[in-house]
Amino acid sequence: MATLIHTAPEVITRPGLQAQEWVRRDKASLSPSLTRGYPFVMARGRGSEVWDVDGNRYLDMNATIAVTATGHSHPAVVEAIQRQAEQFIQYAMTDFYTPQTIRLAEKLSSLRPMREETQVFFTNSGTETVEAAIKLARYHTGRPNFIGFLGGFHGRSMGALAFTASKHTQRKGFAPTMPGVTHVPYCYPYRPILAQRDGEDYGDTIVDYIENVVFRHLMAPAEVAAILLEPIQGEGGYVVPTPRFLPRLRELCDRYGILLIADEVQSGMGRTGKWWAIEHWGVEPDILLSAKGIASGMPLGAMIARKSVMTWRPGSHGNTFGGNPVSCAAALATIDVIEREGLLQHAAETGEYILDALAEIQMRHPTIGEVRGKGLMIGVEFVLDKTTKAQAHDLSEDIALRAFHKGLLLLPCGVSTIRLSPALNIPRPLVDEALAIFEEAIAEAEAAL
Ligand code: PLP
Repeated sequence: MATLIHTAPEVITRPGLQAQEWVRRDKASLSPSLTRGYPFVMARGRGSEVWDVDGNRYLDMNATIAVTATGHSHPAVVEAIQRQAEQFIQYAMTDFYTPQTIRLAEKLSSLRPMREETQVFFTNSGTETVEAAIKLARYHTGRPNFIGFLGGFHGRSMGALAFTASKHTQRKGFAPTMPGVTHVPYCYPYRPILAQRDGEDYGDTIVDYIENVVFRHLMAPAEVAAILLEPIQGEGGYVVPTPRFLPRLRELCDRYGILLIADEVQSGMGRTGKWWAIEHWGVEPDILLSAKGIASGMPLGAMIARKSVMTWRPGSHGNTFGGNPVSCAAALATIDVIEREGLLQHAAETGEYILDALAEIQMRHPTIGEVRGKGLMIGVEFVLDKTTKAQAHDLSEDIALRAFHKGLLLLPCGVSTIRLSPALNIPRPLVDEALAIFEEAIAEAEAAL
């Protein structure tokens, strides 16, 4: 938590008195398990600008946490929500039929990155979507085990948490989680854990490790139901894998009848300039998971699976709120806005522009170890020394805090990375303003080191 600043009222104070009071009440009434890096108390938002309860303006490079895909309160999304809420708010998909839910399933299936036709199971969050995929994978294959990846984040229920391996605080105190998950290193080429042969793509190194070490010593591939991964790691540090990683994983899965589950809760819905990040590698998953940006902020998750995999029987899985028609209306409007306003292309182009600008900023700053990303899923990894790559956790937290005080919202991820995940329609002038503040915050934090 930031130290509270007390200055004359005419000076912009972040947090202001109202925000300080809300933070006090929050501390007294909400679960202490929540993590807040700085005291931003939201009052309203429009597009990529937000205002706190004291009227201070901020540029939002978080879009919540890669959630408000079309920006805050896009008029078309608001209208769709209002229209549906006036008709009816809920009639559970698990026992009845609702047209908006069916329309959205059809639309999502039309956007699938698989050739085979798909069916959709709706949930209320990313975690619950992961949980559904774990269950479907076991049900369909009849196999007990899974491969997950270090640095992965998939949620916090006992099944999803068994895969989550981003920060140990997310797991500490909760063992045992669901059994059957073995973690292997993710394809993080800036920080490889496994030794590479000369000139080898690190993706090959990892897949060979799974096949030659894990499958030989630890678990028979015939007992592995699925490999679950984020095509680009999110919470783990906005890590982009090398070219051969995903294609080689696909081959491995095909060889042993293992399902490939792409958790695109953070990387999907156009964030990387394509509907799904996995499309950058031309790889087809068997099951694809979406949430976060799917409904521009309304709670919704979707598991999209090949029809031949969606073999579970009536009663085997369900929920009360999944596919809520108001959330589905918001999702249909979100997809429509992305298509109508050309936001895939906008995300791709704006992402390139930001990556170029950050490459220049990197040359001026000794603490920027790596800039990486696709579309508007961009990570800036900070280090104490570019040669040793010593991680700079406190520095990255300090940069985010300084940015907050200057009116820019940023979120750290991984050990010492700051993610940029703005709305897909962020306008160029706001990008420039955000980058200027970001660099100021970096310079100040470096000077304070
Ligand atoms: N999967 C990924 C890749 C995520 O980034 C997240 C959340 O950050 C989740 C799953 C869990 O989603 P939720 O917080 O909506 O439960």
